Amino acid sequence: MARPAHDRARHPADPERSIAALVNRLHDALGPEVEGFGTALRTDPPVSIRINPAKWRNAPETDPVPWCAHGRYLAERPAFTFDPLLHAGAYYVQEAASMLIEQAVQASGLADERILALDLCAAPGGKSTHLRDLLHPDALLVSNEVNGERRSVLKENLWKWGAANVLITGAAPERFGRLEGLFDLVLVDAPCSGEGMVRKDPHALRQWSPSLVEQCTTVQRAVLAQAWNCLRPGGHLIYSTCTWEIGENEARIKELVDDGGEVIAIPSDSASGILATSHLGIAALRCYPHRLRGEGFVLSLLRKPGDRGTMGVMPQEPAHQGTELAWLRPTRSWRTIEQGDELFAIDGSWVRTIETLQRSLSVVSPGIPLAERKAGSWRPHAGLALAQDLDLDRHLILDLDLDQAIDLLRGQSIGAREATGTALATYRGIPLSWLQGAGNRWNNRWPAPWRIRSARPSAPPVSWST
Ligand code: SAM
Repeated sequence: MARPAHDRARHPADPERSIAALVNRLHDALGPEVEGFGTALRTDPPVSIRINPAKWRNAPETDPVPWCAHGRYLAERPAFTFDPLLHAGAYYVQEAASMLIEQAVQASGLADERILALDLCAAPGGKSTHLRDLLHPDALLVSNEVNGERRSVLKENLWKWGAANVLITGAAPERFGRLEGLFDLVLVDAPCSGEGMVRKDPHALRQWSPSLVEQCTTVQRAVLAQAWNCLRPGGHLIYSTCTWEIGENEARIKELVDDGGEVIAIPSDSASGILATSHLGIAALRCYPHRLRGEGFVLSLLRKPGDRGTMGVMPQEPAHQGTELAWLRPTRSWRTIEQGDELFAIDGSWVRTIETLQRSLSVVSPGIPLAERKAGSWRPHAGLALAQDLDLDRHLILDLDLDQAIDLLRGQSIGAREATGTALATYRGIPLSWLQGAGNRWNNRWPAPWRIRSARPSAPPVSWST
């Protein structure tokens, strides 16, 4: 969050002074552990990824993150940018502690139901891609980001992840607040003062000030009020931040408890280093870098009073029979939604809900990007190449080697003896992009904004995934 100008002058610019100030602030809260905390802050953060099980079936099994089925630690930080698997959505680079939302979703008891879920503060998409995997395949996830630039990154990451039944929206929380009682599950991963990210981003601490905490508190209170409104009675709210301030965590949840909310303790394995705490009487899980291999993270789960009832079975819409839908495997009763020059595919049973949302707020991606209009007709959407439901049997497949894949990701064409029609480029069997035949080369359809622009390092880019 932005910091008022008058604070800037007082801020320690030197990371060491910033760390010392944070250690000082947490001295009483951590007691005898404070020394270990300070030492941990002065070491490199661990590197972790979360695997996309729908795409990368032979992913490394080693060094699992204990609280996340598909979380893995890596021994070192590879040149991720030059790994085509990252661009193909085979994994997401994610801080390990934040994968803890998996435990909250399980504790909510909603993972096996066809629910309507909302990630209200979703960019860049770490938790949305995770949440989508944790929910029932028939559930619909609405992934929202209010900031336009960050929303583009969210869209890129969700399209690359490639899961069905994801709606990307760009609305202020107030818009959702008006949709009273609509969602069964709401995740608020709130903007916060970011203490817990200091190892990853030294600027996070340079920005810290009591007035920043106050500013964040105001935003969090407002966002939570809207999240609470759009939550169905009996529904669950997951609240998380990457800061240890009680004012940004338990104090915010306490206001909802005063409004009738019931805090649900999230079971955790104390051997993993996660701390189950109860500040202000609010059960939370807290992560500290000296106790586990991860950064700062605080998580609570809350149930809204009332009976959720049974989710009404939505009338099934007849499946659209257009030829474009044949590009998808017939895994569900697909329906198309046309928006400008793009065509999207969604599970027909959610069409009514999507229409309700479209009337109230800006929906930027209603489902799988299926087709884009080119010279008056539909051609496969660049995002479709990355969709988990793409029917691979219908396309000519060209499996690229590492150099070719990197050329493609840089926006270059791929040389060929004879190239006609459309082909699907894969890397290690995982789809990446459409190629358009142009005689003696394949022209590239990798979206220009996603291209790799930095210089390629001379060392082998990714040793752990090859
Ligand atoms: N959940 C994301 C993830 O796991 O990748 C990280 C979310 S980040 C901690 C908080 C997000 O809240 C940011 O993307 C920010 O743009 C958004 N945000 C900031 N102010 C907001 C507000 N007043 N209402 C809603 N969202 C806001």
